[in-house]
Amino acid sequence: MLKIQDLWVSIDDRQVLKGVNFSMDYGEINVLFGPNGAGKTTFMMTLMGFPRYKIEQGKIYFKGMDITNQDLYERARLGLGISFQRPPTVRGVTLKKIIDIIANNGSDDAGIKEKIEQLNLAGHLQRGLNDGFSGGEMKRSELLQLIVQRPELVLIDEPESGVDIENISLVGEAINSLLGKDKVKDPKRGAIIITHTGYILDFVNADKGYIVFDGVFVCRGNPRDILSEIKRHGYRRCAECR
Ligand code: ADP
Ligand code: MG
Repeated sequence: MLKIQDLWVSIDDRQVLKGVNFSMDYGEINVLFGPNGAGKTTFMMTLMGFPRYKIEQGKIYFKGMDITNQDLYERARLGLGISFQRPPTVRGVTLKKIIDIIANNGSDDAGIKEKIEQLNLAGHLQRGLNDGFSGGEMKRSELLQLIVQRPELVLIDEPESGVDIENISLVGEAINSLLGKDKVKDPKRGAIIITHTGYILDFVNADKGYIVFDGVFVCRGNPRDILSEIKRHGYRRCAECR
């Protein structure tokens, strides 16, 4: 489904990714861990095709196609979708409007209405996208957009950050609906999820975990094992693998 070869990426002349190699099969759910500033968000934003992330070297293949030089909208049409760590505020474009656009005017569709209710977002549809949204509202709005878009490869950047205890299960359930229950119908859908706390592992059945450290992927393993190692030792020993 996805293959990354020797990817080097800079932002404003700062070298962030330093030779990433990564591949995943159709239907896999992969979780990325790593300390702040390691390059996790950069990796995702580069996959999606944001122009600020400059690819200096390397290749990105999605479903066997070389997408390294494709524009963001082309990648979205091919089936890539992202939920941002810090989504932008778009004043003047309501959440309802954006859902209408993604769903081809279908935000009144019964299935979508149900998702809106489940995510507790009905009262926010007429607000500007993320305009004054709380951390949890933003994350739920991000997930709603992904659920409506139904991309084949779902990129989710820190779904739990800024979400309070009560709402975190809503977020977990939403991700589970995208990757768990719905996956029975759609077993080829894959995901890459960046997590700080590992909380998401309680909701989705992740296949593999990776640690991103200083711009490269340093290890791979069972996500729960990796999480318990990080809890015990922190990321100190990752430098040795680097
Ligand atoms: P992570 O998601 O792993 O915490 P990021 O990918 O967000 O890390 O950031 C990697 C590094 O790139 C950090 O040192 C960060 O400060 C730097 N960085 C991110 N965005 C920019 C930017 N717009 N300009 C300069 N440096 C940036
Ligand atoms: Mg990040």
